[in-house]
Amino acid sequence: MPDCLFCGIAAGQIPATVVLDGKRIVAFRDINPQAPTHVLVVPRDHHPNVGALAAVGDGLLDELIGTAREIAAAEGIEDTGYRIVFNTGQDGGQTVGHVHAHLLGGRPMAWPPG
Ligand code: 5GP
Ligand code: ZN
Repeated sequence: MPDCLFCGIAAGQIPATVVLDGKRIVAFRDINPQAPTHVLVVPRDHHPNVGALAAVGDGLLDELIGTAREIAAAEGIEDTGYRIVFNTGQDGGQTVGHVHAHLLGGRPMAWPPG
């Protein structure tokens, strides 16, 4: 069993409701959804946070966002709108140290978040 939860899900060793199984990207439903659509979009490779992913610079971050957009379309929320969130570090509320985009939609969301 890998140490990292999302590495384990990406490898298919830990069960999840997978909505997209790509070459470099995997997306699955959040176990504790905060909106009607709440999907986590992650690179298969382990990068700790979005800053580290940006620093890789091989188009993977672009692909992650593009994939989130494709999932939004598939979930029927592209026109009503959605939020893409990268919680980063302790004060950002990050609890899993494998970069993940939260794709949230299907209900109106307030700003600022609580
Ligand atoms: P973070 O707080 O790091 O931004 O987000 C971690 C997210 O992972 C949370 O929204 C949490 O509900 C979700 N999560 C934690 N454990 C699991 C799990 O085992 N499976 C799935 N699908 N989601 C998880
Ligand atoms: Zn990982």
